[in-house]
Amino acid sequence: MKILVTGGAGYIGSHTVIELQAAGHDVVVVDNLVNSSEIALKRVEKITGKEIPFYKVDIRDRESIDRVVHQFKFGCCIHFAGLKAVGESVFLPWEYYNNNITGTLVLLDVLKKNSCKNIIFSSSATVYGNPAVVPITEECPKGECTNPYGQTKSMLEQVMMDMQKADVVSSDPNPWNIVLLRYFNPIGAHKSGTIGENPNGVPNNLMPYITQVAVGKLERLGIFGCDYDTPDGTGVRDYIHVVDLARGHVKSLKAIEEKCGVEIFNLGTGVGYSVLDVVKAFEEENGVKVPYVIKERRAGDIAECYSDPSKAYEKLGWKAEYGIVEMCRDSWKWQKNNPNGFEE
Ligand code: NAD
Ligand code: UDP
Repeated sequence: MKILVTGGAGYIGSHTVIELQAAGHDVVVVDNLVNSSEIALKRVEKITGKEIPFYKVDIRDRESIDRVVHQFKFGCCIHFAGLKAVGESVFLPWEYYNNNITGTLVLLDVLKKNSCKNIIFSSSATVYGNPAVVPITEECPKGECTNPYGQTKSMLEQVMMDMQKADVVSSDPNPWNIVLLRYFNPIGAHKSGTIGENPNGVPNNLMPYITQVAVGKLERLGIFGCDYDTPDGTGVRDYIHVVDLARGHVKSLKAIEEKCGVEIFNLGTGVGYSVLDVVKAFEEENGVKVPYVIKERRAGDIAECYSDPSKAYEKLGWKAEYGIVEMCRDSWKWQKNNPNGFEE
């Protein structure tokens, strides 16, 4: 299939391009590089041995995005482009709503006008808020999002569901097919160690913080709280290897091909690890120390969040293959080989 990948130079997008090409799909990437580097795509080309048509385009730029969509006649769009830093979104709400909401609205309109009404969207487990029960199934009601980033994901899910519903109500002969993928906590990197997550400034997320401590760029990890109602008191999350996550997108094309209407899938492993579990696994697998200090709880954090990923297995035949050991190994390989990210 010919696939438009928005945000394809980013962390999850670049890994997904590899898996799409490996499965025989034709990929075109658009990205404005606000949080990524074209070098990532060059490295992907080296891994796959295939060229990636790339357009440096902001998805809010209707004319430019229309030109690309019109030219290629895509079968599906996989939509990663967006701003994603939870903390930053609290201080820059307008920028987050403008980029994520306006960008997606323009993209959806352009896709529709060009008769490509198939989209796979990067959503997040954050839409569940503080879940009443774990593991979280797709039936769990959405919760309260405590930050503008989470709001954009929740709102965009709603926008897309409403658009699909309108097509059904009006018996549109070419209705939208929409797959909403709720990611849990992606970590890890491609096994080559040549691409990976490359946060700007001091990382907010656990694994990039750990790898930067391990490589000596940061002194010690701060663990946000040790008094949660969890086995060791630290927060529990469902970490998923980014390559498994990428493959989840390839498998989701099956739902699109089967004209799914709207489908929602959790992409996680179903296993929860605490912060201390991750630190220990990282130290053991990689033979490096990760000094840490216990700090106050971080505002907005919840105790436990892990998925029931069985729907994706039943409907798409997808399940995560890698465990915490591979996640720690590959995150470290990327960081060790590229202490300054994509700076060459
Ligand atoms: P990323 O920042 O590495 O990738 C996003 C890409 O989108 C970047 O390359 C950026 O330059 C591009 N982009 C942003 N705004 C754009 C615009 N207006 N026009 C064109 N390109 C634009 O982030 P990621 O971790 O790869 O995340 C990909 C998607 O998955 C995002 O939508 C994110 O919100 C979502 N998501 C990520 C996580 C996570 O933990 N990484 C979890 C849940 C959901
Ligand atoms: N965490 C931590 N120290 C850090 C970053 C994160 O203790 O420097 C904890 C955080 O409190 C949570 C878990 O690690 O329990 C995962 O946090 P992350 O920000 O990676 O993902 P989230 O689940 O919050 O989206």
